[in-house]
Amino acid sequence: MLGLESPWTVARVDLGVTEQRVDVWAEHGDGHRWPCPECGTALPLDDHAEERAWRHLDTCQFLTYLHARPPRVRCPDHGVRQVRLPWAEPHARFTALFERLAIDVLKETDVRGATRILRISWDEAWHLMERAVRRGRQAKVARVPARLGVDEKAAATGQQYVTIVCDVDEGTVEYIADDRKQRSLDGYVTQWSEAERTGMAAIAMDMWEPYMQSVLAHVPGGAGKIVFDKFHIMSHVGKAVDTVRTQEHRALRDEGDESLTGTKYLWLYRAQNVPDKHEARVAGLLQRPLQTARAWMIKETLSEIWGDQRVGWARVFWRRWYFWATHSRLVRIIKAAKTIQRHLPNVLTSFTHRITNAVAEGLNSKIQTIKKMAYGFRNREHFKTAIFFHCGGLQLYPATH
Ligand SMILES: [Zn+2]
Repeated sequence: MLGLESPWTVARVDLGVTEQRVDVWAEHGDGHRWPCPECGTALPLDDHAEERAWRHLDTCQFLTYLHARPPRVRCPDHGVRQVRLPWAEPHARFTALFERLAIDVLKETDVRGATRILRISWDEAWHLMERAVRRGRQAKVARVPARLGVDEKAAATGQQYVTIVCDVDEGTVEYIADDRKQRSLDGYVTQWSEAERTGMAAIAMDMWEPYMQSVLAHVPGGAGKIVFDKFHIMSHVGKAVDTVRTQEHRALRDEGDESLTGTKYLWLYRAQNVPDKHEARVAGLLQRPLQTARAWMIKETLSEIWGDQRVGWARVFWRRWYFWATHSRLVRIIKAAKTIQRHLPNVLTSFTHRITNAVAEGLNSKIQTIKKMAYGFRNREHFKTAIFFHCGGLQLYPATH
């Protein structure tokens, strides 16, 4: 069950029926030569380190621990070193088999749920995830994605932000930095050589000055590579719609009108995605002379600009939409329209680079779920770890010997 190999054998087993616990002691035979963990030179045993215990897969629901004293060798080049053990990675508190199971469970559920299923502590779960992410990131081959996406996300506590860089084609998170400043993105871009940066073909982002400055400063031909894609433009206008709703709701409620109560999430649906159960309510709201309904229809119409392949048609569409939006008397919508107008050349770059919405939307909703499932991150580092764990596309399992 332990998968022990020569020279290791089981020396003793203690079964604690009341504690529901199995303890197994592993020992090795004499005369074995051990490879130095640094250089692999086979060396005789020098001495043993203190006995340690590793949590292993449960045995019929009994918590199971493997105990051993790790052998040490004296390498002429590397001094006294503890040898690598076949059942666990260095510094691990769990056997590799347990870690594999834990990673599978943590992939499927939130951290608190995993602690109950696996009977490990909150700190142990995070420690395990951190190790898995570090392992995966070290093993990852460095490669510049041709098409990148840059996003800011509010970390769970206060007004802290992180900048997330993703590979738009692979749908993986590549890099996370603190804040949403120019240097947040600089940290990613400047790790690559000039030639590698030239290979960046398109960078999708929000109309956020610090990110633009970073690309303009460090990516050759950056001005033509910045894409304010559908996902970001629609989020931008979506926020304006939400502000219209908040203000109108407050005004209506002062007059005792509760029409907009509980509608925040209804207006976030795209026209074609309104669930059946809400359809009647949405249809009713749209028939009334509400500012929010008008703002929503203006937003929904804008999404059609990406429906056509031709940039010439998009320009015509834009002019008509812009006229409508700026004559809507909805202050926030006018403001959003003017912001997009100022950045129009880089909105239209999406017709050359064809960055699809699916990946950005998918990653965004995955990260929202991570945030919700985490029951409050103690710190920003945990949030980053969880994003890499779930969205990094990493090889997380420990290596077996
Ligand atoms: Zn050595």
